[in-house]
Amino acid sequence: MSFAHLFQGVLDLLAVALLALSIKGLSRVRSARTANQLAALAMGLAVVGLLINAQPTIAAWIWIAGGAAVGGLLGAFTARLVPMTAMPETVAFFNGCGGLSSLLVALGVILGARGDGITPSLLVLISIAFSISVGAITATGSVVAMGKLQGWLATPGWMLSRWRHGQNIALATVALVSAVLTVNGFGEALWPLVLSASLLGVGLTLPIGGADMPVVISLLNSYSGVAAAAAGFVVGQQLLIVAGAMVGAAGLILTQVMCTGMNRSLPAVLFGGALGSQLPAAQGGSEYTNITSCSAEECALTLEAAERVVIVPGYGLAVAQAQHTLSEVARLLESHGAQVTYAIHPVAGRMPGHMNVLLAEADVPYEQLKEMDVINPEFPGTDVVLVLGANDVVNPQAKSDPDSPLYGMPVLNVQEARTVFVVKRSLGTGYSGIKNDLFERPNTSMLFGDAKQMLSNVLGELKALGLGK
Ligand code: NDP
Repeated sequence: MSFAHLFQGVLDLLAVALLALSIKGLSRVRSARTANQLAALAMGLAVVGLLINAQPTIAAWIWIAGGAAVGGLLGAFTARLVPMTAMPETVAFFNGCGGLSSLLVALGVILGARGDGITPSLLVLISIAFSISVGAITATGSVVAMGKLQGWLATPGWMLSRWRHGQNIALATVALVSAVLTVNGFGEALWPLVLSASLLGVGLTLPIGGADMPVVISLLNSYSGVAAAAAGFVVGQQLLIVAGAMVGAAGLILTQVMCTGMNRSLPAVLFGGALGSQLPAAQGGSEYTNITSCSAEECALTLEAAERVVIVPGYGLAVAQAQHTLSEVARLLESHGAQVTYAIHPVAGRMPGHMNVLLAEADVPYEQLKEMDVINPEFPGTDVVLVLGANDVVNPQAKSDPDSPLYGMPVLNVQEARTVFVVKRSLGTGYSGIKNDLFERPNTSMLFGDAKQMLSNVLGELKALGLGK
């Protein structure tokens, strides 16, 4: 064993340990940033180790350096330019890139071997077929998920019929047969495998929509890990196998968490059709009959007298970028003796953990963030709930109306509090596109306006009442 080989082994081992540590760190908001840096360091070490070991055989450094430069620049620009609210689309895109990379690595190896007249081992052939199938499904499925989240793609009507199951079964059968043939050395089956698996990715993802998209994205994340692990077998890289398996497992756990959060079973998400596209279109508020609205001054007066305040952040808070103003309001209330907590719904916003990240930006103490199961029993003893740009996650219909498309999704029972203020710009719907009965409840008052503007108005009124002096 050469020194370079040994050196790579040591760096790989270090990288695996760092990856495991980073995954542990990512489970808490407090340590997530450092955990991300650890993961990047792990990947950096792995690349250095590989380059040192493979150095004598590398003929085209320019491609490696060029690829790293282009990829690095794209990554840096994406990180700077993409707003928090567009993160799910970005994650979907990155998943797709992961799947495409595994697909290209496997294709490169098999085409190269064929060109050199070499037959890879059975294990490598199986891994190639697996990497191509899962990589292609992930790549096209992720592009579709991104297009749907961006609003570029809608589900065509025929995709909602039962025929789509037949079509997907046919594509899966072609992919399976092509994979078996590829493993058995029939080179002609390679392109049908790529094509059928790519179409299957589209066929499986396009009918899914609306509220089920978070689950699909985390599942695609898991697929990208599985494809990477298979690519690791193809190129004989243990680190890729370990890292891919970790991503695959983490994605599966996240998928499970999301399914539990939305009270959906995974088969129902995958084969149940496009919840979002079957939902009624936004009505613009005409279906509401009994709405009470109030001013920032009235809201501030109620808040001033409140002892227990629960804040429910939602997607609109992220759109308005009102987290800093919100934390100022909360601090003022606390200085006045109120107990302030934040109710975090698992799918509030547009990605898992969206609200945690948003509130962390405004230095909201982690101890004040309470998960849905913890906070729900506390609503009956709460004086004021401030719902900020949230809609679906506080819709009582999810519990009371079996005909509602949201029925079964666990929600925050804010209506059980003494007074509820809902801050949003209009009576427009949330992500699921359905009416929210909460707005008509007798203890609910609407504050119509942009969340940031409305919170600064409330802040001004609270100060005018003498809070913080
Ligand atoms: P919703 O999407 O249900 O509602 C957001 C509300 O914010 C809208 O009704 C909108 O009303 C309001 N809003 C938008 N902009 C502003 C603004 N500038 N100021 C004040 N209000 C604003 O959000 P929730 O967080 O309640 O629910 C999340 C939904 O997204 C769920 O259905 C979930 O399944 C889905 N989802 C979640 C993902 C995740 O992983 N977390 C990923 C993808 C989807 P108005 O226009 O009247 O202002």
